[in-house]
Amino acid sequence: MDETIKICIQEINPHVVCSLCGGYFIDATTITECLHTFCKSCIVKYLMSCKHCPQCQLKVHETHPLFLLRPDRTLQDIVYKLIPNLFENEELRREEFNKSRGMAVDKKPGTKKEEPTVPKLSSIINNPDGHLYRNDEQICLCLERYRPQRIMHHGKVLTLRALDRKFLRCSIRVLVSHLKAMLFKKLAIPSDVQIEVICDREMLSDEVSMKQIFLMNWFGKETPMVLYYRFRETSDNSVT
Ligand SMILES: [Zn+2]
Ligand SMILES: [Zn+2]
Repeated sequence: MDETIKICIQEINPHVVCSLCGGYFIDATTITECLHTFCKSCIVKYLMSCKHCPQCQLKVHETHPLFLLRPDRTLQDIVYKLIPNLFENEELRREEFNKSRGMAVDKKPGTKKEEPTVPKLSSIINNPDGHLYRNDEQICLCLERYRPQRIMHHGKVLTLRALDRKFLRCSIRVLVSHLKAMLFKKLAIPSDVQIEVICDREMLSDEVSMKQIFLMNWFGKETPMVLYYRFRETSDNSVT
């Protein structure tokens, strides 16, 4: 059965277009401090003359601005998936470029060791003056308890509560780690307990943003986007 989802490209464009060149992301690269994304070559060139994020004016590292860039593979994959032939065309362009300079074709770009950088971004949810996010596109979420759970925690029964208010609006740049921080706080979960956030039966890793989840798992579906949370089962707790 054909399960192709028809996607209106106009709707998705704002998420996958570089604000510096107006084209689809090529080598999507994110500033770790504010999570704005650009083409790698666009942002590297830009930061040579200016030390602020082009989108939010956040000051990036004074002496080594490139330290704060990391490749955004997920977003790039989305672009390649959505825009057929972009990848092939880009590969061809690179080959031509390398040939014209007499360089060997590098079939595996990015083999250089990349530092896995954790965004230092402080959570908008815990931070009421998260001014960096104020003008962001917002997304409506429903944070639903996966199921009532009880675990043994230091000899006591710990019950997973449901949120009083499960609907929330947040910036599309909020990460799963931010949501988890909010859940820990609102549900008074001890910090040594692990929780999982799930969308569409997929467990989400901490560094994934709402934008990525939306584009990967929720595009074309009805809002709010539903995320589930639950205690993670570990060897020293038994979930019932
Ligand atoms: Zn660009
Ligand atoms: Zn920014």
